[in-house]
Amino acid sequence: MSTKNIAVLSTLLSNMIAAGEVIERPSSVIKELIENSIDAHSQRIEVHILDAGRTRIEVMDDGDGMNQENLLLSVLRHATSKIENEHDLFRIKTLGFRGEALPSIASVSHVTIASSQGDVGYTLMIEEGTQTIQPSAARKGTSITVKDLFYNTPARLKYLKNDYIEASSCIDIVSKFALAYPYISFHLTVDEKIVFTTDGKGKTLSVIQTIFGHEVATKMKKIEINHPDFQMEGYLGLPDISKSHRYHMYTFVNGRIVFMQKINQTIIEAFKPYLPPVRYPFVIFSFVIEPSLLDVNVHPSKKEIRFSKETLLKTILFDAISEQFKQTNLSVLPGFNATLPSFNDSAILAEETPQYEQTSLNYEDIHPSLSLKVVGQLHALYMICEDGLGGMYVLDQHAVDERINYEKNLKLIKENRHALEPLIPILIQVNAATDKKMTETVLTKLQSVGVTLVKFGASAYKVESLPSWTLASVDPKFYVEQLLEQFLENVHIEEDALRLYAIASKACKTSIKANENLSLDAMQSLVDRLMLCDYPYSCPHGRPTMIQWSKFQLEKLFNRSGF
Ligand code: ADP
Ligand code: MG
Repeated sequence: MSTKNIAVLSTLLSNMIAAGEVIERPSSVIKELIENSIDAHSQRIEVHILDAGRTRIEVMDDGDGMNQENLLLSVLRHATSKIENEHDLFRIKTLGFRGEALPSIASVSHVTIASSQGDVGYTLMIEEGTQTIQPSAARKGTSITVKDLFYNTPARLKYLKNDYIEASSCIDIVSKFALAYPYISFHLTVDEKIVFTTDGKGKTLSVIQTIFGHEVATKMKKIEINHPDFQMEGYLGLPDISKSHRYHMYTFVNGRIVFMQKINQTIIEAFKPYLPPVRYPFVIFSFVIEPSLLDVNVHPSKKEIRFSKETLLKTILFDAISEQFKQTNLSVLPGFNATLPSFNDSAILAEETPQYEQTSLNYEDIHPSLSLKVVGQLHALYMICEDGLGGMYVLDQHAVDERINYEKNLKLIKENRHALEPLIPILIQVNAATDKKMTETVLTKLQSVGVTLVKFGASAYKVESLPSWTLASVDPKFYVEQLLEQFLENVHIEEDALRLYAIASKACKTSIKANENLSLDAMQSLVDRLMLCDYPYSCPHGRPTMIQWSKFQLEKLFNRSGF
């Protein structure tokens, strides 16, 4: 057996190991360099990448710059100007503090750093561990060029995805910083083509417009939270610009791009009543949280953070989003291409992306107290209405009725939580696999929505009680079976969500179906009751209840604009 002596790793090797944690791919380099530029109080940051960042990444800023001594120190491991003592670690106000990024990057690439505080300038070159420094232009700020990333770590190089994905990830990270820092002007080029330039004037909506386009910007609603322990300012995307996956919830905390799983889950829950199944929210939320309540030092690339008042924040956030939706006319506007390229694609496809036509209409223009008059029925399925403003609405009678029933039941369940014993005994048969899943926790949770099940023989449960509101109009056995099936698929569902689900499935079963001829009076009564609902614009499953054509749109479609 060979005995190896313990030796302290060489600087280069330990930097390379650190790079393994912090520098995963070209976009991680960009993230670290932009963070440094922001910490250096830059007002304009330019990012240029070639070959998806493999051959060259350049980040230029107009920030504080470094003098000769600091320039040499900046590439040493654990060299940082940002914290001095352990006290500082618990109230971090800068994005960086670990002093790891520059040495890590330099250990896996060829780096050139030109920096100046405005008087004299120096350029430091690091190639294969050898440093050279020489005087250079005195442009205030710092410019860092990273060439041949991972040239000496073939495994890392191999692990990179194709150019399209890597470039998208680079665009994504610069876009996020641009959204989080509207007061900084970001300029991004990919293979010498401009992807975007933000104006740095401090308006998030203008950044949204630059990055996602005008049409998307008109579908973003501003949202704010003011609480002694945290503030939030952001924009939420209305349901018709929802996304097919969850990567479009941009959350920033104190200017840091972070991933907060529980907060994201809260956002999803708050959007749920408005989104069709498997659609996800599009939001841009910037939180400001007192640094002493945060631990940002939980992840090497600082992607995750801990927040000591998370539960409170979740409740307040949920309420704020719900309130915002209640105040908004969410009827769907036709003619809008809901399948916009996703965020990742939008910028890189900039050349092929058609310019969305500008329309003077946006949600703010719509009258808040909508009053609709039914003028007819279409295909025994849709109700045609006019508003008092020259616009036309088409409503889905089934979806409308579902929404009305849902809210009626919701009120009933709130006022009357009684559970009743069914008059005729009900037995639910379960197979062995289902029976295994019927734990105490499951039974207790079901009880919280008024359904009490008691084991009855080897493979059945007896329904001891049902919520009183179900008895009037629903087949109780079918109801319990459906609820159980859905619940067992997602046993971690929160109690409130389960309760809502229980009511939504009931609402659907009892609603007016398609293919039902309705009189004008019956339809008018339906529409009037809809407009009294808290959330009239979608059915409980998130599908829209109505589509509208405004006066402006109708005129445009018929070329009547000049009349
Ligand atoms: P950290 O950001 O954690 O301090 P880095 O390795 O990223 O560590 O940077 C080391 C130091 O180099 C920083 O603390 C800062 O003083 C200096 N520095 C890096 N980039 C810039 C820049 N763009 N402008 C001014 N100073 C910079
Ligand atoms: Mg840094």
